[in-house]
Amino acid sequence: MAERKIAIVGAGISGLLACKHCMEKGFDPVVLEAQSGIGGVWSKTIESTKLQTPRAFYQFSDFAWPPSVKDTFPNHKQVLEYLQSYASHFNILPKIKLNTKVLDVAYSPPSDEDLVAWDLWGGSGEPFSPYSGKWDVTVQDSRDPSAPFEGPEVFGGMVMHSMDYAAMENKAASEFIKAKRVAVVGFQKSALDLAAQVAKVNGPKYPCTLLFRTVHWTVPDYFMTYTFRCLNRFVELMVHKPDQGFFQWLSAILLSPLLWIFSKTVESFLRFLYPLKKYNTVPSHGFVQQIFSCMSAVTPPNFYDKVREGSLILKKSHNFSFCKNGLVIDKEEATPLATDIVIFATGYKTDEKLKNIFSSVYFRKCIIGSSAPFFRECIHPRIPNLAILGYGDSPANLYTTEIKSKWLAEFLAGKFMLPSIREMEEDVNRWEKCMKRYSGSSYKRYCASALLQIYTNDQLCKDIGCNPRRKNRFLADLFTPYGPTDYKNLTNFI
Ligand SMILES: Cc1cc2nc3c(=O)[nH]c(=O)nc-3n(C[C@H](O)[C@H](O)[C@H](O)COP(=O)(O)OP(=O)(O)OC[C@H]3O[C@@H](n4cnc5c(N)ncnc54)[C@H](O)[C@@H]3O)c2cc1C
Repeated sequence: MAERKIAIVGAGISGLLACKHCMEKGFDPVVLEAQSGIGGVWSKTIESTKLQTPRAFYQFSDFAWPPSVKDTFPNHKQVLEYLQSYASHFNILPKIKLNTKVLDVAYSPPSDEDLVAWDLWGGSGEPFSPYSGKWDVTVQDSRDPSAPFEGPEVFGGMVMHSMDYAAMENKAASEFIKAKRVAVVGFQKSALDLAAQVAKVNGPKYPCTLLFRTVHWTVPDYFMTYTFRCLNRFVELMVHKPDQGFFQWLSAILLSPLLWIFSKTVESFLRFLYPLKKYNTVPSHGFVQQIFSCMSAVTPPNFYDKVREGSLILKKSHNFSFCKNGLVIDKEEATPLATDIVIFATGYKTDEKLKNIFSSVYFRKCIIGSSAPFFRECIHPRIPNLAILGYGDSPANLYTTEIKSKWLAEFLAGKFMLPSIREMEEDVNRWEKCMKRYSGSSYKRYCASALLQIYTNDQLCKDIGCNPRRKNRFLADLFTPYGPTDYKNLTNFI
């Protein structure tokens, strides 16, 4: 029998879940974490960060939030404590090696040429098989401080990524931006939270400028609660599916006007609620298109009040460049924006980071060579014996990652085999085509199942041989929302 060693990179939510479910199947995994603590993004973030998913949808199926947490949207400290108690309760901590950064992973044998010739994932479609090679994982003690972010030479101020700002202690972060002219670049959750935070610290005397190319719809937090209540099978009937039969096709055609009405109603509501026209922040795309691209963000509290009082300046710009004293926006060189600090909150270049972890050119090409999602959002058909959990984004990441971890653990335990590489590629191409229909130019491969969560979970349940219908009564199954606790015991086998 092939050796069954499992290494997990990262001790964020995905790593903790992967570890717990592997342990339950009798494996003895090791978790390699670059940071000095667990929790991933929740271990270091800006002071005002809260969950934007209602906590009932951001909880482990078998480990409830403590009764002391009453807020629908707990703050980042509460989220981190919750993750720490989960890790401690399920005895995950002894499996984690902190301060251990994975530099690269290399697979051998066989050679790249042999890999290309395989019809089945890993040569056999199984996770552990005598045909498969092994991953060599190179790690480094990551306690050395990382190199500072280098800005362009011409700029006299400082340039950084929001991740580095979020990594500072809250007090040091406030001191760092105090009485400085700060520009934040981006219009997603991190950018909005960051700009609101800077505006709060500095007020109108040193207004923060939020620079953005594309605006997105942002919603009040209570709206999220209502939206999550709509995560039911009936709503999914309005959406075309990658593998749809006639009935699913027909229902999507007949019900799609409801999706359109929903989108337009929400857009009108948000225009009424916020002075979007006044500040030139009306998005050019529809609200539903945005959901399909996983770009929904909650508007930070009193965001437009800060704009009104002059602590926050919203500036749409197609292009900007650096000059000695600040930023030249849209080539208006006569009036540069005087700036001391520029913070980029423009995303995390996930594909680039993922690609760079592979030493093989072939695997690097696999990662960036296509825009199709991964099979079941975690397996690349041509990268053997490796799963990429946590890549897929969704409105409730903990919930969706947990179900995929269970699926993965069942696969590792030999419950099912993967289809052939060709079948997996056909499957992911169908997903890509289906999602592009809704998200258009905003299509993101990491956001394949945003409005098809139940359908995705159905596929995972069927793969592992358990009943995808998690509610007892027909009407409840159709109209009540699906959430983490519905998948608590996946022992209800067909
Ligand atoms: C500010 C913010 C707010 C968010 N709010 C929500 C929300 O409300 N709802 C929601 O669903 N999602 C939210 N998210 C998304 C969030 O990323 C996920 O919910 C989830 O926490 C991701 O967990 P993860 O384990 O996949 O990734 P991460 O939390 O990023 O963890 C990855 C871990 O891997 C480690 N690591 C990376 N590379 C290496 C390496 N080479 N070697 C060793 N270790 C490595 C990192 O140090 C990190 O600890 C938010 C994200 C941010 C940034």
